[in-house]
Amino acid sequence: MKTAVYPGTFDPVTNGHIDIIERALKLFDKLYILVGENPQKATTFSAEERVEMLKQALKKHNNKIEVEHFDGLLLNYVRKKKSNVIVRGLRAISDFEFEFQRAQFNREFAKDIETIFIMTKDDYAFLSSSIIKEIAMFGGSVKGFVPAIVEKKLKEKFVK
Ligand code: ADP
Repeated sequence: MKTAVYPGTFDPVTNGHIDIIERALKLFDKLYILVGENPQKATTFSAEERVEMLKQALKKHNNKIEVEHFDGLLLNYVRKKKSNVIVRGLRAISDFEFEFQRAQFNREFAKDIETIFIMTKDDYAFLSSSIIKEIAMFGGSVKGFVPAIVEKKLKEKFVK
């Protein structure tokens, strides 16, 4: 069985993430979606909320995915799942440097684990969780850019 781990903060999940997940599902039998923490910034949604939004948005792929929060080193999670592939999404060249550094770092510590990159559909190339939150915060519409459950949660969070 071919498996892979897709790690991210998913604060919140966008259609860009979903696009990467659905592309990865064509390549792997099982995808472990790791909801992690970003040491650089506090998240808007709790770990439980981020996991729940992903689960709801990915209901139809239920038998091929597993979503869980993990607050530790990515490589340890990959080993725990007995996988050897990390999936990351690429939007624009601006993502490259950061991803390149992380992939090289991970390779240094785990020669048997490979990072692969999937390019998003160009409609989502400019999409990020932070842009989504900014739009929602100022009362704009995020329809078409996030799953319905996320649209709802953003309204609850930002529309007073
Ligand atoms: P992180 O904090 O780990 O970068 P994110 O949740 O922002 O977490 O992103 C997780 C992964 O999804 C990263 O590989 C990122 O490049 C990718 N990603 C984020 N948004 C998009 C998008 N719109 N299209 C394609 N990939 C994306």
